[in-house]
Amino acid sequence: MNPIVIIGTGLAGYNTAKELRKLDRDTPLVIVAADSGHFYSKPMLSSAFASGKAPEQLAMNTPEQMAGQLAATVRPGTRVTAIDTAAHAVRIGEETLEYSKLVLALGADQIRLPIAGDAADSVLTVNDLGDYSCFRAALEGKRTVAIIGAGLIGCEFANDLTAGGCSVHVIDVAPQPLSRLLTPEGGEMLRGKLADIGVTWHLGTSVAGVDRDGTGMRVALANGESFATDVVLSAIGLRPKLDLAKAAGLAVNRGIVVDRQLQTSAPDVFALGDCAEVCGLLLPFVMPIMNAARALGATLAGKPTPVTYPAMPVLVKTPACPTIVSPPAAGAEGKWEVVRDAGSCKALFRSPDGRLLGFALNGTATAERAALAKELPPVLAS
Ligand SMILES: Cc1cc2nc3c(=O)[nH]c(=O)nc-3n(C[C@H](O)[C@H](O)[C@H](O)COP(=O)(O)OP(=O)(O)OC[C@H]3O[C@@H](n4cnc5c(N)ncnc54)[C@H](O)[C@@H]3O)c2cc1C
Repeated sequence: MNPIVIIGTGLAGYNTAKELRKLDRDTPLVIVAADSGHFYSKPMLSSAFASGKAPEQLAMNTPEQMAGQLAATVRPGTRVTAIDTAAHAVRIGEETLEYSKLVLALGADQIRLPIAGDAADSVLTVNDLGDYSCFRAALEGKRTVAIIGAGLIGCEFANDLTAGGCSVHVIDVAPQPLSRLLTPEGGEMLRGKLADIGVTWHLGTSVAGVDRDGTGMRVALANGESFATDVVLSAIGLRPKLDLAKAAGLAVNRGIVVDRQLQTSAPDVFALGDCAEVCGLLLPFVMPIMNAARALGATLAGKPTPVTYPAMPVLVKTPACPTIVSPPAAGAEGKWEVVRDAGSCKALFRSPDGRLLGFALNGTATAERAALAKELPPVLAS
């Protein structure tokens, strides 16, 4: 019997395997990953510095330990080069590995801006443990970090690195941090609280170039300003990994297109996590992955199960300004109601008939998260 093959040892790949094994200990399972195959919590990458955690301390299990726990063959450092859906097989260079069912848990790539300057190739991104080790090595003995992008990951790194003693600059074309998730009032509160701990903001402008400057670098901004830095980290967003799926002829849009059962356009091929677009939704967060893994584990075990998503607020790890967001669905009709005081900002997005469709909470307003989440509609109802 051909094994179930999972490509990817991130939260999506390993959690699908865990959910499958709760229901089925026997079907042969092979998990293949281009990276080191360590089990780790990716969200910790943007909160480990201030707590003094070294990159190697973030790995919770080795691939060998995962293989034992999951009764699986785990093959780290193994890149799948092609998928042949007609032959029910994946290619690993010259090798062919046949599957009964295939799960694509390929993740996403950090988007890289084309940046001018002779140090542009030194701009780092962090989207896995390997990247993070390189980033921490680059930071060794250094102090100043420029972060391109004031989204979720950029703001979290800004808070963590500043709390850990770095001098941090953040650059974003938007006039506020978290511009897609917070109202201007909430963005202003987050900006102010991070400025209070030492973050220097360069908002409403972009990076014109990064050049070598002595032992460090100099970042030139489109507004004509410039500053010296030791390290530049780009965090401007993620793009689902689509190459394998595209080359195999699977339907792709912004992500690999899957239905409620996480089935791609090819029989016996499924996708979830940061690479997948589930019923039109790209949700690169942990909670959607956990829900999808549960449903897919059951489907792989022979009980076809559609994924459901409850409301899934995201906690932004900026302790200087506690922030929780649950954005309304794209295109939802309604408007924001905002109440701001010195210690909080509470923004509620309500439909014309008064139903709560989303929220963005900062400061002490985050205490209302659980009560408000109960009022929200599910993201994908059963
Ligand atoms: C710094 C940071 C902080 C975050 N914080 C939060 C947070 O606080 N809350 C939250 O909800 N979300 C957070 N996220 C998002 C969340 O961590 C991700 O949504 C999630 O970890 C993605 O898991 P994944 O398994 O889909 O992808 P990944 O973890 O990227 O795994 C992809 C896997 O596919 C493998 N792979 C890819 N291509 C191939 C190939 N051709 N052959 C073999 N293997 C291949 C890779 O090697 C890897 O093992 C954060 C993300 C980052 C980067």
